[in-house]
Amino acid sequence: MKLSQARPCDKCRGKIAPQFYRVRVDLAFFSPRNANAVLGTAQILGGIGALAVAEAMAPGAEDAIVCAGDKEPELLDTLFICQECYLAGEIDLAVLLEQLHARREGARADGAADCGARLRAYGVVALTSDELYALKPQLEAEARASKKAVRIAWMHARHGRTEGRRCKDCEHLVRGGYFKCRLYGISASVATDWRLKWEACGLFKDRERAEAIKG
Ligand code: SF4
Ligand SMILES: [Zn+2]
Repeated sequence: MKLSQARPCDKCRGKIAPQFYRVRVDLAFFSPRNANAVLGTAQILGGIGALAVAEAMAPGAEDAIVCAGDKEPELLDTLFICQECYLAGEIDLAVLLEQLHARREGARADGAADCGARLRAYGVVALTSDELYALKPQLEAEARASKKAVRIAWMHARHGRTEGRRCKDCEHLVRGGYFKCRLYGISASVATDWRLKWEACGLFKDRERAEAIKG
């Protein structure tokens, strides 16, 4: 690392010399298609060691779990933590990353370009259209069974849920006479309309907290 790449501690904003901790963080998620290919092959083979053989045979076995930072280095966030903060205990990774992103956003003039980068940081583009398509029938069936819209079922299946929270309090909810989820995708059609009361997905980002951090 070059001297020019150094910056103050991401927690206390103090100096990091003479030694500090570098924490690298990225998003990792299961790829249903690749995971199913491996498990399916293992089931056909059967017996002890089937999983190892299946992992050598099945296409996409390496990407059964996709680590965003491995795919694109810029999706790997790096935090610098000074020795003192490291030893002092409690470090809230989510808050530190938010602050890091907010500082970067502040440094960047182009808001639109940043929105795209943000989407990629969440790994949204890492899902291939094949994977989307393969999941569709399952999601539609689940949505029918639980009487909810396919689009929020999709977000729950893909990103999990945030218990006790609703989309209405999420920073990714776009308001403009209608409601849309920025991370699901926005179009002029009602097919992307969103409901405030929907149970938040795992990408939920507390709007009030995000605003407080940006100050
Ligand atoms: S919680 Fe946020 S990101 Fe998730 S579906 Fe609702 S609005 Fe979209
Ligand atoms: Zn510090």
